[in-house]
Amino acid sequence: MIRLPMYAAFSLLATASAAYYAFSSREQFYPAMVYLSTSKICFVLLLNTGLVAMCVAWQLARRLFLGSLREAEVERLNEQSWREVIEILFAVTIFRQDFSVSFLAMVAALLLVKALHWLAQKRVEYIETTPSVPLLSHIRIVSFMVFLLTVDCLFLSNSLRSLIQKREASVAIFFSFEYTILATSTLSTFVKYIFYVSDMLMEGQWERKAVYTFYLELISDLVHLSLYMLFFIAIFLNYGVPLHLIRELYETFRSFRIRIADYIRYRKITSNMNERFPEATSEELDASDATCIICREEMTTAKKLLCGHLFHVHCLRSWLERQHTCPTCRAPIVPADNGRAASSRQHGAQAGVQPVLYL
Ligand SMILES: [Zn+2]
Ligand SMILES: [Zn+2]
Repeated sequence: MIRLPMYAAFSLLATASAAYYAFSSREQFYPAMVYLSTSKICFVLLLNTGLVAMCVAWQLARRLFLGSLREAEVERLNEQSWREVIEILFAVTIFRQDFSVSFLAMVAALLLVKALHWLAQKRVEYIETTPSVPLLSHIRIVSFMVFLLTVDCLFLSNSLRSLIQKREASVAIFFSFEYTILATSTLSTFVKYIFYVSDMLMEGQWERKAVYTFYLELISDLVHLSLYMLFFIAIFLNYGVPLHLIRELYETFRSFRIRIADYIRYRKITSNMNERFPEATSEELDASDATCIICREEMTTAKKLLCGHLFHVHCLRSWLERQHTCPTCRAPIVPADNGRAASSRQHGAQAGVQPVLYL
């Protein structure tokens, strides 16, 4: 495979030689420029150089803010880019009458900007689940999110301006919509990251974090859902049914429903943690190696799950925000109905236990 720097060098060389040829054969500036802008070969060369310049800028941003990518990040990049390319091709067919070189360049830029957003999200997830992250990583990810927000806003204002100037439906609707979605997701990731840092500064004792995170995600899902609907209606009125949007509209709606169901389940489990999970006895602590697998620190007091594994109570609470299975053995933390009835009777905590709600 040809590496990007080599390809970039070749492209630059080819463009430079085309320019050199134009100026040496036409001798004057104006005819040379006419030749450069009308010759098909020159056009392809310039287009190619433009795309290469974008890729180089992308690589620079990636290296500056993220450094080398982890395996999971590369995987996400590969997985999502194909899906995204197909969806963008669908969108392009809707706006085919606007097709032009600048449209093509905007689509390429959108894809590259989107890829940076996926990487940022993945990196934030990684930082939030890794115990000790160096300060430099925090500084980098914060500046990365600020950078992405700035880029989103620049593109968004650009598309909105062209929409207002032309006063008619054009592909600018599509770009305005895409960059609004990107900007709001970045904002929500950023706020979630602030929650995470605040929780970390309180040494994982911030109990309201899950509630705030839930409301944040609920609001961001609601905003996305309404944006999708708006865009859907705008396209429907001007162009016809936007088939490529149906899947995303459905997925946004589904994630909204799952979020509410998850939250209700989380509240049910954590509302009575003290009664639901028995305190580990000192014999049980001695029998295990007394290390909490979630934070890797020693336990003096611990909560025992039904499967017998022990954890700090605050570690367990933050774990339950993400998962409802035991961190050690993956057994469900809330067992099936009859199991729970039996165990709650055993621990004498019948009063607080209610059936888990599934929407
Ligand atoms: Zn712990
Ligand atoms: Zn377990």
